Amino acid sequence: MSDAPQKTVFLETFGCQMNFLDSELVIGQFRRMGLRIASDRDSADIILFNTCAVRDHAEQKVTSRLGELRQVKADRPGVIIGVIGCQAEREGKLLISRFPHIDVLCGPSQLDRLPDLIAEAQATRKRAVALSGGVKGRQRDADPEGNAIERLDQSRAFAPGENPLQAYVRVQRGCDKFCAYCVVPGVRGKEKSRKPENIVADCRRLVEAGCREITLLGQTVNSYVQNDAAGQPVTLARLLEQLCGLPNLLRLRFVTSYPGGFDENILRVMAAHPAICPYLHIPAQSGSDRMLNAMRRQYTAADYLRLMDRAREIVPGISLAGDFIVGFPGETESDFAATVEMVRRVRYKNCFVFKYSPRPGTAAAQLPDDVPDDVKRERNNILLAEQAAISSQTHAELVGQRLSVLVEGPSKSAIESPAGNPRQLTGRTVFDQIVVFDCPAGAEPSQLAGRLAEVRILHATPYTLIGELATIESAGAPNDSAPLRYKSLTVIQ
Ligand code: SAH
Ligand code: SF4
Repeated sequence: MSDAPQKTVFLETFGCQMNFLDSELVIGQFRRMGLRIASDRDSADIILFNTCAVRDHAEQKVTSRLGELRQVKADRPGVIIGVIGCQAEREGKLLISRFPHIDVLCGPSQLDRLPDLIAEAQATRKRAVALSGGVKGRQRDADPEGNAIERLDQSRAFAPGENPLQAYVRVQRGCDKFCAYCVVPGVRGKEKSRKPENIVADCRRLVEAGCREITLLGQTVNSYVQNDAAGQPVTLARLLEQLCGLPNLLRLRFVTSYPGGFDENILRVMAAHPAICPYLHIPAQSGSDRMLNAMRRQYTAADYLRLMDRAREIVPGISLAGDFIVGFPGETESDFAATVEMVRRVRYKNCFVFKYSPRPGTAAAQLPDDVPDDVKRERNNILLAEQAAISSQTHAELVGQRLSVLVEGPSKSAIESPAGNPRQLTGRTVFDQIVVFDCPAGAEPSQLAGRLAEVRILHATPYTLIGELATIESAGAPNDSAPLRYKSLTVIQ
């Protein structure tokens, strides 16, 4: 660890849960270096962007930030500007040639080195680079076992009083699927599953620190498999079973699942253990076999639908979430109609819909991006409207019911909108439905985070359930040393 002088660091994160986890881990490193985390970008001593490369739009946001920082660097040459994560890895030298004021460039598989890179850039006033693809003169040894980066995963620490109510835990790095449109395998490298005992130890530490909900992360999380210390292979189903045994772990989720080769034992374990949320995020990407084949997805629409039926048989009431790409090269009206049909058939809880964005270096980048942008936009809107109609119906059926909600804290509107209700709380059901309701009189909204509440649903929109509090756990704030009592709900209103 380097001895950097005490300075402030600003970090802005783009992209997926994996990036948010990486940011949390590097912030832990910064705290250990004695850095203070700043909320004001332009006055910070170190300004970092943890970037995403999945779509062009995400990269544009960062390049516009970097443009803005030209003047900041001119005014304060001592400031360190760093780009970390997937865009740093993908663009490498090109990014430096466009923005020579970048001091640190660090790919997602090299983040364990970030403190040293920052210290080096500060000490030498020269650019410090760590990319797996290699930038001339700076290529580091490969880390085939993932040992260095494993230390980063295990380094999570909590400041006194910090309440990690919900946490992400990485189970896999990289991806071996090579879908034709996707940059992830290129920037995050080959699939590597972490050792089960390390994952269990991370989760145990989190639960002991008060964490109630853990989400396991992997690009194709269902293909997780790694030998344990005894040399026995541990699959995702087995890992989930092991984690369910952690006392006081209330909810366990895992994302994202790949539909090909999905092991039904995962569904059986889900059905058998109440701590495993009956929720599957399992992107189909398209409902057309022609498109699935062109996308190099390793299943057909019929395979996918069969798996969704099995999921519903084995885990009654399971909540399904999907991703779709519209406007992939060659997508016709009839291909798109098959996608709409799939959304209608599956009746997802929610869908993420993306307009195809060509990514340099991927197989699909060789194909003409022949669906015009206005057609992509129209298909995007049609699919979202289909899903909103389904979500409205399924949500309307919940009006009048009492749902169990893990309170996350003040709602987005309470925090962000001046016209919002400052006492509105938000939380989620095991099915990942978002529920908002008012904090009871006499209680402080932020104090209720982490408690389990029963909420009576009064109204519904496609995206949110609006309710009133019926009961809430009286004790069991995650910091309490007393054991949490999930089932003893006490009426406080
Ligand atoms: N590993 C996960 C998600 C990876 S990226 C999985 O396979 O499901 C998240 C989502 O972004 C993908 O599911 C896909 O729908 C979308 N995506 C990836 N590359 C894209 C591209 N080039 N253009 C548009 N959307 C893309
Ligand atoms: Fe990308 Fe496909 Fe891997 Fe998901 S499974 S990360 S979409 S290559």
